[in-house]
Amino acid sequence: MENGKTRYGKNTRALHAGLHASDARENSLAMHVTSSFFFNSAGQAAAVFGDEEEGNIYSRFSNPTVEAFEQRLAELEEGEACVATASGMAAIFGVFMQLLQQGDHLILSRSVFGSTINVAKNYLTKFGIQIDFVGLADMDGWRRAIRPNTKMFYLESPANPTLEMADLAALGQLAKEHGIKMVVDNVFCTPILQNPLNLGAHLVVHSATKYLDGQGRVLGGGIVGDVELIEGPMRTYMRNAGPALSPFNAWVLYKGLETLGLRVERHCANAMQVAQALFERADTTHKVRYPGLESHPQHGLACQQMRGFGGVLCLDLEDRARAYAFMDRLQLATITANLGDSKTLVTHPASTTHARVPQKERIEAGIGEGLVRFSIGLEDAQDIVDDLMQALPSVA
Ligand SMILES: *Cc1c(COP(=O)(O)O)cnc(C)c1O
Repeated sequence: MENGKTRYGKNTRALHAGLHASDARENSLAMHVTSSFFFNSAGQAAAVFGDEEEGNIYSRFSNPTVEAFEQRLAELEEGEACVATASGMAAIFGVFMQLLQQGDHLILSRSVFGSTINVAKNYLTKFGIQIDFVGLADMDGWRRAIRPNTKMFYLESPANPTLEMADLAALGQLAKEHGIKMVVDNVFCTPILQNPLNLGAHLVVHSATKYLDGQGRVLGGGIVGDVELIEGPMRTYMRNAGPALSPFNAWVLYKGLETLGLRVERHCANAMQVAQALFERADTTHKVRYPGLESHPQHGLACQQMRGFGGVLCLDLEDRARAYAFMDRLQLATITANLGDSKTLVTHPASTTHARVPQKERIEAGIGEGLVRFSIGLEDAQDIVDDLMQALPSVA
């Protein structure tokens, strides 16, 4: 199967891409848990180090199990190549470190993962990189923020946890006109629901920890794009900086991808059922945000840009005390910072994932004190609905 160009559908690719069988003819990927690879002679070592002969050297540089995961993720994202990383943040930080330099200007969506904001503000500024934050859906804002030294647009769509979206094709076009690289965090959609590379993004970053694993087991990440960027600067960065994905985690993620299509379909169906039930019950105590609801201000864009509405939905309660009380009454949903697990998870972003973002900025980004984020799992949908309903403030 050729990377990037394939006649197979998503589910077939998820099962067959990146398959490497050894002489033992195993039908499920073997795990190469080794830190280094031996050479048959000193001369061979020199040849492999010197790029005269192909081969593995050391698992910080390459590893067959990690490579299998990289190929599979690249094919699903319809990109030419992928480098895997130890976590989603390792992928994001790597993209910033490798592609930006002192004096460059980065435009960041205001609605991104809390650690992404922290990395930008605490580390990139240390190296003389200028940053502006703009509203994700504010096209004029992106346009106005462009300076002669702007090198990168960075965004998530839908954003974590606000579920705001960007018109990726329009933003991709704007980036192209100004020679700016657009980097999209595709964690919420997964390649099943959206392929930003086909809409003008230069790179896609993933936290594989979320839906790609899908069962809350391991950390991992990946960066997908064309061969020139990935096998050039990004691979060199990985080799030197070292945030390598472990072969064991790569194996777990590779197997996780085999069921991604099925799982995402069920996450979407369950989230829709829960969102509708919450919407029908809407009263003064809560508002529901879900891209699949017509009440979502960007429902039209979601229909046009995404192949499904995802597994994350949010509830806006009146304040932090009510949000905590609601979460504490839940019996099925677990309170945890993760998302994309097979189980239903619930988080209070203002006090956890976005706690280090100053309150004023949180409010501007749409993360209120009463916001509760659900990652809807694969349980029977009615059980999730019943759990949420019995915990709503109006019931208690
Ligand atoms: C979790 C998450 C990340 C960070 O990924 P880790 O694997 O936890 O490092 C980045 N972006 C989004 C949207 C996330 O949800």
